[in-house]
Amino acid sequence: LHGEGRRPAGTALALEGITHRFGEVTAAEDITLDVQPEELVCLLGPSGCGKTTLLRMAAGLERPQQGRVRVGDQLVADSATGAWVPPEQRNVGLVFQDAVLFPHLTVLENVAFGLNRVTAGERERRGRALLGQLGLGPFADSYPHVLSGGQQQRVALARALAPEPRIMLLDEPFSGLDARLRDRIRDDTLHLLKRSGTATLLVTHDPEEALFMADRIAVMRDGRIIQQGHPIDVYCNPADPFVVRFFGDCNELRGVVRNGRVETPAGTLEAGHLAEGTAVQVLIRPEALRVLPVSRSSEHNGSHVLMSRLLGRASFIHLCVHHGTDEYHMHAHMPGVFLPERDQPVDVQLDPQQAFVFPA
Ligand code: ATP
Repeated sequence: LHGEGRRPAGTALALEGITHRFGEVTAAEDITLDVQPEELVCLLGPSGCGKTTLLRMAAGLERPQQGRVRVGDQLVADSATGAWVPPEQRNVGLVFQDAVLFPHLTVLENVAFGLNRVTAGERERRGRALLGQLGLGPFADSYPHVLSGGQQQRVALARALAPEPRIMLLDEPFSGLDARLRDRIRDDTLHLLKRSGTATLLVTHDPEEALFMADRIAVMRDGRIIQQGHPIDVYCNPADPFVVRFFGDCNELRGVVRNGRVETPAGTLEAGHLAEGTAVQVLIRPEALRVLPVSRSSEHNGSHVLMSRLLGRASFIHLCVHHGTDEYHMHAHMPGVFLPERDQPVDVQLDPQQAFVFPA
């Protein structure tokens, strides 16, 4: 399999200055994005922001109204010259949400389908090797209808990978699967893509999937990329409130910069480069709040629990936080099982790494 041959150097995919409209809707506004060899780039954004349109342009299923597309060193679309290479000549592997396999071909024949430039023996060898790596070896000679949805999705992945494409294009490939299965298949897919060193563009609306899978995340909104970077950058240094909220609901407050800081009911935050007196918006992730039971009530400020519920990996706590003479309702996530009773007095601490200050 991959790795036996030489992996080509140079950019695997480049979208350059892509603008595209459907009537009034701007699906892409001057988008420039590249994927390097062996890199997995995730396009992340809400429904309708233009992710699929970009992927379809890379695949050759949509012609950009403006801009250029390159796959490896081949120019495959150019609005200025009308240059155009059809999908089947682009050396891309494509997997969508719903795997569509050929029902009259066996699993092995499905996987070997795109391998028309190698000998029959080599086709079979590569097909079986890929199926083995995805835990599907025993199904090689079965027909697709006996496979579960998750297994069919793996076969679709193997089929797209078999011809060793310059780039894999994956559009929400895991979203049709139930949660438990999805985690396994994500893990297996990531392993296989990394092991084969295949450059990949993955489209998802699921922030956890992007954090888990990506070497680089491009966050999209309304046809634009609003932030691009390593998952840690995007998660820990979000460019604006939209990016923060996209990773989960937050406690949102207003404040003012005083002495380089912003007071919140849960604690003080540094205001960074914001000028004195600037009105700010503060977003505090539920994970940023530490909820501590108070044993001695003499110094307690009155903050208390309104409700607590188990989320699974964490506990959700709805709080009434006292600050001076004001009261704020906030929600916190605490790791593990931590379910304080209603009205229990608590102290609340703030982890500044999980709270963000933006100009209002
Ligand atoms: P989703 O996750 O829901 O697929 P997306 O981020 O992939 O969303 P796109 O499918 O790229 O978004 O669509 C971007 C915008 O362009 C949407 O408003 C969509 O309705 C519109 N759109 C996409 N394809 C067409 C089309 N063929 N004709 C008209 N409008 C379209």
